[in-house]
Amino acid sequence: ANRIVVKVGTSSLIYPNGAINFETFDQLAYTLSALNNQGKELILVSSGAIGVGLNKMHLKKRPTEIGAQQALAAIGQSELMTLFTQRFNHYMTNIAQVLLTHDVFDYPKSDQFVMNTFNCLLNDNVIPIVNENDTVATDELDHKTTFGDNDQLSAIVASHVNADLLVVLSDINGFYDRNPKKFTNANLINQVSKIDDEDFSVAGGTGSRFGTGGMRTKLLAAKRMLDEDRQMVLANGKDPRVILDILAGKQVGTLFS
Ligand code: ADP
Repeated sequence: ANRIVVKVGTSSLIYPNGAINFETFDQLAYTLSALNNQGKELILVSSGAIGVGLNKMHLKKRPTEIGAQQALAAIGQSELMTLFTQRFNHYMTNIAQVLLTHDVFDYPKSDQFVMNTFNCLLNDNVIPIVNENDTVATDELDHKTTFGDNDQLSAIVASHVNADLLVVLSDINGFYDRNPKKFTNANLINQVSKIDDEDFSVAGGTGSRFGTGGMRTKLLAAKRMLDEDRQMVLANGKDPRVILDILAGKQVGTLFS
């Protein structure tokens, strides 16, 4: 794979107690920098703005009001980028912030602008860090929307930039035959080549306090990748260096292919 989109979930970046997981930030920067230096083209889609915002404002839980969540996301987003900038600077890798909404790709003109930006950044060896623009959209915040969330945004980005591989990092080792947070006897599925309704029936909601999509949105992302003959790997983000193992062809997490 030469063009790779990596999506990291809130659960990998923030501990359940609300503290920032600096180790994940560092290992993500280390891994993506190493791959960037090898000539791979990388795009990182990162959630976590609200989680970082909560941490910054010393709040314990997400406010219920959507406007308050958007405000927190705005606070958290710049802090999130600061954390990334610090770690990526350490490895001398340049990053850029790209804030998108799902519908930008529906309009030919904005689609073109976004694609031009991505292509310029990738040409210059800069790693774009993408998140939903939470000030103008609430897909990622409003759990009731059918479309939203960064899992699917990452799949849309992967398909538009013609990526070979989408790596989704979460707080579980992969896709299980039932929700592993509820059933201790759940079994990890190594490879999935086709997604049907039955798969969705075992894919539950979010497992963490700050997580958003749960397994359902990850399967929707995987379905899109499979439909377009691209690969997706769902793996545990507790050590983002697994991306190196995945690219080395090792069996990690669940391969959708
Ligand atoms: P992230 O913040 O990384 O996107 P989410 O909390 O949104 O993480 O989604 C991952 C969670 O999905 C897991 O922690 C798990 O509790 C839940 N889940 C539900 N069904 C399944 C399943 N069949 N296999 C794996 N995880 C599942």
